[in-house]
Amino acid sequence: MKKILVANRGEIALRVMRTARRMGLGTVAVYSDADRTSPHVRFADEAVHLGPAPSAQSYLDMDKVIAAAGITFIGPRPHAIEVMGNKLAAKETVSAYDIPMVPGLDEAVDDPDRARAVAREIGFPILIKAAAGGGGKGMRVVDSAEELEEQMHRAISEARNAFGDGSVFIEKYIASPHHIEIQVLADTHGNCVHLFERDCSIQRRHQKVVEEAPSAVLDPALRREMGAAAVRVAQSCDYVGAGTVEFLLDADRNFYFLEMNTRLQVEHPVTEFITGIDLVEQQIRVAEGEVLSFRQEDLTINGHALELRVYAEDPANGFLPSIGRLTTYRTPPDARVDDGFEEGMDIPIHYDPMIAKLVTHGATRGEAIAKMLTAIAEYHIEGIETTLPFGRFVFTHEAFRSGDFDTHFVAHHFRPEAIAEAGAEETRAAALFAAFLYQQNSQRLTVPRSSSIEWLSRH
Ligand code: ADP
Ligand code: MG
Repeated sequence: MKKILVANRGEIALRVMRTARRMGLGTVAVYSDADRTSPHVRFADEAVHLGPAPSAQSYLDMDKVIAAAGITFIGPRPHAIEVMGNKLAAKETVSAYDIPMVPGLDEAVDDPDRARAVAREIGFPILIKAAAGGGGKGMRVVDSAEELEEQMHRAISEARNAFGDGSVFIEKYIASPHHIEIQVLADTHGNCVHLFERDCSIQRRHQKVVEEAPSAVLDPALRREMGAAAVRVAQSCDYVGAGTVEFLLDADRNFYFLEMNTRLQVEHPVTEFITGIDLVEQQIRVAEGEVLSFRQEDLTINGHALELRVYAEDPANGFLPSIGRLTTYRTPPDARVDDGFEEGMDIPIHYDPMIAKLVTHGATRGEAIAKMLTAIAEYHIEGIETTLPFGRFVFTHEAFRSGDFDTHFVAHHFRPEAIAEAGAEETRAAALFAAFLYQQNSQRLTVPRSSSIEWLSRH
């Protein structure tokens, strides 16, 4: 392999190219009209124009992407992507591998009577889910038999619109879960290891905002058990490369398989920090046919890592997208920042509104939190609203700090006013500090009775 075409944009394209360059490989960027001058295009050795701004006519137009290269695909084989791309096919695939499943209906349903019967059997609340769903979309919680039919129709039409596939199924709605996912890595020679867990329970709209590794709630025995289950999931579809097996862990410490994501995920850096392994490098090595250079027993957890997804969203206003220009954009000095933006750039409306991944690592969870709070304070973004103040809310919150939280953290603890209050607090602190400086300066600037030389020398 001599050069790599990175079929993505923004921060992740840059992140992948950095590793490729470090490994001595050439890099090829692809770009749409909206990204002509973006950092990922400037960083690459070569760049290929794909088309207009909308993703469907550029980044997701596979014929255009493939025409740009003569390729060895870096990633799992088509079979694994296909079966794991559908939640029902995934359940079917892993069913012979002793994987605990969420109670529910493991086939598509469009008959309300059937759905009600299943729901009564497993007990309300239930979750109606799109088989082809992703990104937290196509899910509806149903609390009672009365509302089931309407919610089911909504879920079906939502799924049809969003994914072009209206199949939905039913799961028991787990009351107070942690989202625990396991990173796996498999080569083409039948070796597969797991790289421990990530806890991604802090979510809004069933979508992750804060992730950490390791989880504050797992012990070594449960970690081993979930890790082994994740490896079996990978084996069930002959997985190759880096992937993630997602589970829910309930309040009684039972875990259930949710789905497998057949790609490098946004939250992969926390795993890189605690294992010291560059996952993109491993993806490339696996694609080159190398044998994994470590076994399960060689892997250990080093310290604790946290990630905050910095989105162009307004946490004080329902996390709605906040689009505009980055009039000020300065990153913190002592944290890993994976981003693809610079001061003066516009956040395009065509793509996911994530600006950056802010990642810290410490010897302990407390140290990682302290570093994260410093990094948030030193990350200066103006022109748009971001999830940075939400991050400060999470990392200072007692429930997060003590590990006593679940996927409902936002619903249970977050009030939009907290952002304004923290803002006011910060403004008050800034005002006090300014007053303090002013006082100091005026002391210094008081023209002394002694000679002006002496006055100057005090500066
Ligand atoms: P997606 O494809 O959108 O990632 P997932 O099945 O991975 O869908 O679920 C995303 C999130 O939705 C989970 O992290 C969790 O917060 C919530 N969720 C999914 N299934 C359930 C369930 N059965 N009970 C409770 N929460 C769930
Ligand atoms: Mg998921």
